[in-house]
Amino acid sequence: MSGFAYINGVLHADGVALTSIADAVGTPTYVYSSTILERNYRNYEMAFGGQNLGIHFALKANSNLAVVGLLGRFGAGADIVSLGELKRALAAGIPASKIVFSGVGKTREELTAAVLAGVAQINVESEPELDVLDQVAREAGRRQRIALRVNPDVDARTHEKISTGKRGDKFGIAYNDVISVYRRAAGLAGLEPIGLALHIGSQLIDLTPYKNAYLKIAGLVQEMRGQGLSVTALDLGGGIGITYKDESPPSLEEYATIVCDTVGNLGCRLAIEPGRSIVATAGVLLSRVVYRKSGASNDILILDAGMNDLIRPSMYGAYHPIQPVVQPASGATLTEIDVVGPVCETGDTFARARLLPPLYADDLVVFGAAGAYCSSMSSTYNARPLAAEVLVQNDRFDVVRSRQKVEAMFANEHIPDWLGQIARDDETVVRKRA
Ligand SMILES: *Cc1c(COP(=O)(O)O)cnc(C)c1O
Repeated sequence: MSGFAYINGVLHADGVALTSIADAVGTPTYVYSSTILERNYRNYEMAFGGQNLGIHFALKANSNLAVVGLLGRFGAGADIVSLGELKRALAAGIPASKIVFSGVGKTREELTAAVLAGVAQINVESEPELDVLDQVAREAGRRQRIALRVNPDVDARTHEKISTGKRGDKFGIAYNDVISVYRRAAGLAGLEPIGLALHIGSQLIDLTPYKNAYLKIAGLVQEMRGQGLSVTALDLGGGIGITYKDESPPSLEEYATIVCDTVGNLGCRLAIEPGRSIVATAGVLLSRVVYRKSGASNDILILDAGMNDLIRPSMYGAYHPIQPVVQPASGATLTEIDVVGPVCETGDTFARARLLPPLYADDLVVFGAAGAYCSSMSSTYNARPLAAEVLVQNDRFDVVRSRQKVEAMFANEHIPDWLGQIARDDETVVRKRA
């Protein structure tokens, strides 16, 4: 079996029953399917078959070393946005020659580490960053390949928090300034500008914004070449949407056609940076019901997973499918239930009035499409340890991140001496009184 499906009445990840993972590892636990990861990655390869195209997986969607390492084995490079992600990508075995560094606020320290590691390309997002990077590269005795990230001023028609390519968004260099900045970059000894980059947003369901942005970029390339500037690389970003509920995202073939039609004839080396569309459907969050109680309108199902484990519903109003691990009897009645976590704020609500079959304390459920921007956005709010992560490969499963120990969560916190002294004094006072 491949993917997430019921086998003999129990939901499986590939060949492994989620009940056995819950027994062995506990809950909440993220479970990833190698099969789906591979399928999603290969779908990109196939859609762009024959094109000279680099696929750089965007680590911020899911930066678990095993997930990144597995994609690396398939041939993926990495798109990173911080020093932490650089170290994760390298630790997962992605060669620096396949790493692209994006991000609006890279510090001098981060740029230095990336230059010294020898990353393939740094996507520069402003003139001040350009100057710092030039200096860093010269100090290191290197000439760093860069692309300029263009703000193409298109509306990605997605959630406002994840739209990144509109004028006024914080990302990239304004379309009208790109040529002059590029020319200036070409004159800097530490830099070798090779092309342009863009990323207009995430969870895009409509191809029109891509088409508009890529046409604008193509126009820019022609204009730059007309002025004698060399442009040999285009980084087209990520952002293809997936189905959480009832969205109909474009097929990768349709997307590849748009790419070919707009920038395919420029003779550039092309790169894309998909994150969500590779990992989202490859993961679920496995959780156990702690209590079921009656509420004002609906019954309330309280899970052992909270907004610290899965923040997307709270942060973006996002929908995640919720499914029982034990297959409900056919004809089981569905009722509207509120599904919440244990964290002490009302924002910790995963779903209101969700139609679900009968579920009670100790039952297991999964949140679907939870492989992207779920574990990677989790926190320890309410002093709740980071969940475990499991990777399934056919009939075997491995814990690829152990559940965080509570003590490890505060092991790097310190009580200052003076406070410790007060505590000791208090103790003496108390002892004297006694
Ligand atoms: C987040 C991000 C991506 C990946 O976006 P998805 O929607 O996950 O495909 C790609 N490139 C950059 C620069 C990003 O910031």
